[in-house]
Amino acid sequence: MDGEPAEVVYEIAKGFVYSSAVRCRACRRKERARRDEAKRVHLEGIARKNQARMAREREIIMTSSYVWFHWALLSAVFAS
Ligand SMILES: [Zn+2]
Repeated sequence: MDGEPAEVVYEIAKGFVYSSAVRCRACRRKERARRDEAKRVHLEGIARKNQARMAREREIIMTSSYVWFHWALLSAVFAS
């Protein structure tokens, strides 16, 4: 990488070609596995977030129905 500018450009271009387009079967498979893994982790993160949100919503519903039940119970007791 210390030759003429044209040579440098050629070396860089070769690097791009080798690192992206031209890959052997093993490298393509490895890259696909890496991408699949990244996608899996990403989707798992979303699923975990959704589960946490659903648990929070369930808790709010349970708490509010608990409060409502006791309010109704106390009202009935004091009304009688
Ligand atoms: Zn390879």
